[in-house]
Amino acid sequence: MKLRNRLFAAFFIIILLPCSMIGTIGSVILTQQVRSMEETYRVDTDGWEVVTEPVQILNRMTKASFNELSAMAQQEPEFFRNTERMTAVNAGLLESYSYLLVEKNNEMIFVGNQFHYGSIKRKVPDVGDFEVAYDGGVYVGGDVPFLVKQQNFSFADGEPGSFYIITDVNAMVLRLKSAANIVIFGSIITIVFTAGILVAWLYQGILKPLNALKKATRQIQEGNLDYSLKDSISEDEIGQLCADFEEMRVHLKNEIEVRIQYEQDLKELISNISHDIKTPLTAIKGYAEGLLDGVADTPERREKYLRTIFAKASDMTTLVDELSFYTKIDTNNIPYHFEKVKVNDYFRDCIEDNSPELEIVNVELSFETDVPEEVQVLGDREQLRRVMSNLIGNAVKYRGDKEKGIIKIRLKEEGSTVRVEVEDNGIGIAESALPYVFERFYRADASRNSKQGGSGLGLAIAKRIIEEHGGSIWAESKEGEGTTFSFTLKKIELAEKKGTGLNG
Ligand code: ADP
Repeated sequence: MKLRNRLFAAFFIIILLPCSMIGTIGSVILTQQVRSMEETYRVDTDGWEVVTEPVQILNRMTKASFNELSAMAQQEPEFFRNTERMTAVNAGLLESYSYLLVEKNNEMIFVGNQFHYGSIKRKVPDVGDFEVAYDGGVYVGGDVPFLVKQQNFSFADGEPGSFYIITDVNAMVLRLKSAANIVIFGSIITIVFTAGILVAWLYQGILKPLNALKKATRQIQEGNLDYSLKDSISEDEIGQLCADFEEMRVHLKNEIEVRIQYEQDLKELISNISHDIKTPLTAIKGYAEGLLDGVADTPERREKYLRTIFAKASDMTTLVDELSFYTKIDTNNIPYHFEKVKVNDYFRDCIEDNSPELEIVNVELSFETDVPEEVQVLGDREQLRRVMSNLIGNAVKYRGDKEKGIIKIRLKEEGSTVRVEVEDNGIGIAESALPYVFERFYRADASRNSKQGGSGLGLAIAKRIIEEHGGSIWAESKEGEGTTFSFTLKKIELAEKKGTGLNG
């Protein structure tokens, strides 16, 4: 559940759950109290009266007795002088927490509850003539609150008399107090219970994932990038935060792995380069010494030495060029100059440029095309030439000990693209090495130990250039038989129509 909804729900639970539970507990207790009071005091109530008008109910409890005694006072006033009969009436009233007082000529001649009367004596008001509330009763507050009903009458000898029914209010109040205590206690339990449920629920939804997040952050601080938060990803906002955190962790981990790999590659490269530079340098040094020492004593020998020195220096230049170019390509610092290139013309020129050099090393270069002459691609001439010289250079470099090297360049029209193939009959590439040849600094083992120079950058550069042209490059090979490198270039009509976004 979303955190916002969870908080909304929590808000309503805080209000509704305690209210409904307190309501239920309250009404159960009230019903029970009312029933017990109705039974105890033999009065009818409408339930809520017990809470809203308890005094009225107390009043009603002695109503019948009061009416009977009033009638007796009219018809047979001497009845009130009969202590036995008064005691019997008083016994009935005691059950309703009430008792009887009879006064004759300002003197109490009967007191139904000496103890209680002792505590209220001076407060019993003269209410007999009043128009009184509560069905004839008057409430007297104070420390010992009570209800009093009074009726004045005359005794047979003409002396004035009064009888009072006193009801102890405290008895009822105590009962109500205990009921209120139960309700208060029940409410506290309900609120604690609700708060407990809510805390557990919010803990589940907020604190638990937050704790997991905290733990994960600490793990990352300590450098452990493998600690995954996958289990804490949920639908809510914190879950989303966990998901973002997890994404960041994976990203960070990949970045660090790439950096470690890069540093590893760099170390390897430095060691490779020093090896690759050392080899021609040793040769150059050797031949130069030969010249200085006069070992090359004939003009032909001297020329051979000088040519070798020149070739080795050229190898080194190529290596340094490739390195500096790769640094640029790696930091996206290569300015491309895209222009319309007629593929057949362009690749034919390429072959013509390379052929004389290859003839010297007994490698034959052939060209085939099924692409119509007018077909054009959008390309950077200089960079495409670099791709071709890398591929042709590799075909020469890895031609092995074949008697004659053969390199076939083929152009094929394939829908919206032109496919360029460079096939050789060289040593081939092992199947296990094939997926890696386009990775920077990668050199298949066989070639690493060979006497061939190389940086492991040529194919990585070619791949990058072809991808910048919107094409793709791949290799197929059979060890011992030869290798075919193929790449595609988009034909110009399509490139223009679709707007490939090529820069240049
Ligand atoms: P290098 O500078 O080592 O030639 P490349 O990136 O050009 O670097 O090539 C990567 C590796 O792929 C080479 O070391 C070599 O093992 C293999 N390779 C490339 N071209 C060929 C080919 N035509 N025949 C056989 N192996 C090749």
